[in-house]
Amino acid sequence: MIVLKIGGSVITAKERPMTAREEEIGRIAEEIASSRVRRLVLVHGGGSFGHPLAKQYGIGEGYRSEAQLLGVSRIHGAMATLNRMVVEALTALGVPAIGVSPSSFIVADGGRMGPVDLAIILGLVDKGMIPVLYGDIVLDRSMGFSIISGDQLASRLSVELKASRLLFGVDVDGVYTSNPKLAPEARLIERLPLSKLKGILMVGEALTTDVTGGMLGKVSEASRAAEAGIEVLIFNAMKPENIYRALRGEDVRGTLILR
Ligand code: ADP
Repeated sequence: MIVLKIGGSVITAKERPMTAREEEIGRIAEEIASSRVRRLVLVHGGGSFGHPLAKQYGIGEGYRSEAQLLGVSRIHGAMATLNRMVVEALTALGVPAIGVSPSSFIVADGGRMGPVDLAIILGLVDKGMIPVLYGDIVLDRSMGFSIISGDQLASRLSVELKASRLLFGVDVDGVYTSNPKLAPEARLIERLPLSKLKGILMVGEALTTDVTGGMLGKVSEASRAAEAGIEVLIFNAMKPENIYRALRGEDVRGTLILR
């Protein structure tokens, strides 16, 4: 079983609210179709579909007023719309994909997923279908509602489903010594053992490595899967053929996180 997470930065134009990159979605669907991987669970992020609305309704600070309820509807609705695009791109190519809504089976506590029953996901995979999940807004025992990122979801699913590999497709080649979009001298870290990753996650110890923003959350979630013995690869999903190659188990430039 493989869990593939496609970053919101890959399938949406991050700087433009509610804008999907339909050509990228089509290309990614083609790569998944031609890889012919059978036991696969897909997760995608929200990018410009999720973040602006979450910010507008102040969901990050938790649920405090009824005015936010419409925000819950709209955030979930936007993510479900993006999900439909991904699922339809796959089914158009004959891939038996099926959208699964995280908010209908996940309850969080303090922004972390609680216990989940994955019988349905597993049942779908066993039948030969490809469940497609996404970062979503879910009920939260302590915060009212919270956002479960696609990264957290993908990592948890890989652990609970005992996946052999967890693949994170993003818009850069992997984890660099610092943000490659800001620092031209940044170098790609091709192998990242958990011991070194823990140093990066502990603020203050990151003397030689500067991982921030979305990538920091991603490596933090990835470390949980790596701890469970799952092979984790962070790679560039914007580069054609990379998703195909990663799914086929071929060599792909990226960051391999090792236990
Ligand atoms: P996605 O939406 O695809 O899941 P994010 O945009 O949240 O991914 O995170 C990836 C981004 O993290 C990269 O585009 C990059 O700008 C940023 N980043 C910050 N620090 C680093 C780093 N050290 N190495 C790689 N990327 C980094």
